[in-house]
Amino acid sequence: MKKQDKSILVVEDNPLNMELIADILGTEGYLIYQAFNSEEALTLLKKIKPDLILMDIQLPGMDGLTLTRLLKGRDDFKHIPIVAVTAHTMKGDREKALQSGCDGYISKPIDVKVFPSVIESFISKRGAV
Ligand code: MN
Repeated sequence: MKKQDKSILVVEDNPLNMELIADILGTEGYLIYQAFNSEEALTLLKKIKPDLILMDIQLPGMDGLTLTRLLKGRDDFKHIPIVAVTAHTMKGDREKALQSGCDGYISKPIDVKVFPSVIESFISKRGAV
């Protein structure tokens, strides 16, 4: 699998977090698309089919869980793995993310040492691509 052939849509409203994630994954060789809110993500998704979506939960306007439920309810998007990235540490948030249709969950602050391998494992879970 060549990472250059894989794309990731990052949905994140915090510019510093976005830069960090895009830097790390861009360095890994992935093609990165950036959306700073759910509306931008939906607009991009009319044109692109990413191999993974990294989903911030707290977003202005439509939150990440609502966007996840919306995408997982659509036949053309439900196969795309969605990994929640959230600062929420409250008990139950992981369950809430999974119930909304997220395929996985990464806590902020991001552990830059393991982040790339976690991302790679979620992308390979798609199976034969
Ligand atoms: Mn946020």
